[in-house]
Amino acid sequence: MTEATKQTGTCLCGAVRITANNSSNKVGACHCGMCRKWGGGPFMEIDCGTDVSFEGEDDITVYNSSDWAERGFCKKCGSHLFYRLKESGQHMIAVGLFDDQENFVFESQVFIDKKPSFYSFSNKTKNMTKAEIFEMYGSSNK
Ligand SMILES: [Zn+2]
Ligand SMILES: [Zn+2]
Repeated sequence: MTEATKQTGTCLCGAVRITANNSSNKVGACHCGMCRKWGGGPFMEIDCGTDVSFEGEDDITVYNSSDWAERGFCKKCGSHLFYRLKESGQHMIAVGLFDDQENFVFESQVFIDKKPSFYSFSNKTKNMTKAEIFEMYGSSNK
């Protein structure tokens, strides 16, 4: 079962502080083309649900990346902070920001069929293709 805990973290420069009150400990990686453009590689995130607060919100720029989601980053240091679903307010927060990295488990990889061949993770994870994701969540809900 997913263990929900409070997690805190910061961006690289410290201007933005994150508190996730109901964070999962499961790490997911997304290999889709948008995430790889955004971060320069796969996006590794923690599902933090909707109970997330930020200090230094003035230093967050939110990029409207699709009809259903937006992506936040620190305008001072460029750290990628979150992928957020507009309708639900659900935050997927970049795992590297969190202070405590010890209790995380790498659990799943999505858009595995979009992963370029020059890298692959050796962890045993649940992997889903684009078609499987669309089947699970309905048409274009990524
Ligand atoms: Zn920063
Ligand atoms: Zn992605």
